[in-house]
Amino acid sequence: MVPTKKSAVLVDGVILNGPTTDAKAGEKFVEEACRLIMEEVVLKATDVNEKVCEWQPPEQLKQLLDLEMRDTGEPHHRLLELCRDVIHYSVKTSGSVSNMYAMNLARYKYCPDIKERGLSGMPRLILFTSAEGAAPFLVCATSGTTVLGAFDPLDEIADVCERHGLWLHVDASWGGSALMSRKHRRLLQGIRRADSVAWNPHKMLMAGIQCCALLVKDKSGLLKKCYSAKASYLFQQDKFYDVSYDTGDKSIQCSRRADAFKFWMTWKALGTLGLEERVNRALALSRYLVEELKKREGFKLLMEVAPAIKERMMKKGSLMLGYQPHRGKVNFFRQVVISPQVSREDMDFLLDEIDLLGRDM
Ligand SMILES: *Cc1c(COP(=O)(O)O)cnc(C)c1O
Repeated sequence: MVPTKKSAVLVDGVILNGPTTDAKAGEKFVEEACRLIMEEVVLKATDVNEKVCEWQPPEQLKQLLDLEMRDTGEPHHRLLELCRDVIHYSVKTSGSVSNMYAMNLARYKYCPDIKERGLSGMPRLILFTSAEGAAPFLVCATSGTTVLGAFDPLDEIADVCERHGLWLHVDASWGGSALMSRKHRRLLQGIRRADSVAWNPHKMLMAGIQCCALLVKDKSGLLKKCYSAKASYLFQQDKFYDVSYDTGDKSIQCSRRADAFKFWMTWKALGTLGLEERVNRALALSRYLVEELKKREGFKLLMEVAPAIKERMMKKGSLMLGYQPHRGKVNFFRQVVISPQVSREDMDFLLDEIDLLGRDM
């Protein structure tokens, strides 16, 4: 659809021309993985001659499964072997509404008998420091805001939190993935000082939705203390293996999909360096787009015509581009660049198309 221009464009040392992934090879992998899942999961699960599980203790699983994350990605045949191993031992993990989780943790830490007492008799709790007798219990910083992609200065915020003994939560749903890049991770300088971090690999790292990680610094079992329902019919403690690996009684919901698996498989496939490359490329493409935009006559970063142009681009079927107002400013287009399929040619097409559709306005 997009005409290819000859000259290679380099931004931040990243070549931006052409997509970087091999779509055909990807299709073939998905086909093979589906066949594997059909054979190993669906058919075997309904075959009475098959074992219902291949149980191994957690420590043994660590040996049996190749859990190490390497710099370089694995070839497709190896990924299929890994899928087969994981399916064989049916490892289950989970992700969830991490920001709320972290807030509950902070509240629990502030008031450990909240589950017995409820909210009655408790001071009015608030998230930020305030005068007037309210008790601040959490500061939520953001690494990569949803609309602007802005990063809070974590070190400075952590200084304040340390001084006042406040739980520091970082909503890095968007920006957490920048940690994969040696070039851009300084955006999250100080994140090691956070008590909890929410991170969505289903955003910039393209893990299948949904896949969200909540990273908690506490090592005293706060997750369990806060979320355990102690339901005797649910999570028996008298099991014959190390129950500290059971995530069931550390979270709100019981049944869950194996969300972590999708990201694990992606990481295995691309390697740490492959993920880094994706982040670098996404940020370089954004920079390219901004630079090109500044060069063009008739473009400003904010324009009132966004909804009308959006209507035209959707009716024409050429683009789907989000827009929103921000702090009293009018609607503007918000271009998010994360897919490894996207290239410099698409950035040019985007600007050309907006220009074309809005020319008579
Ligand atoms: C996307 C996003 C969320 C919500 O994550 P979901 O997985 O979509 O629920 C929270 N905070 C920020 C900053 C986000 O960008």
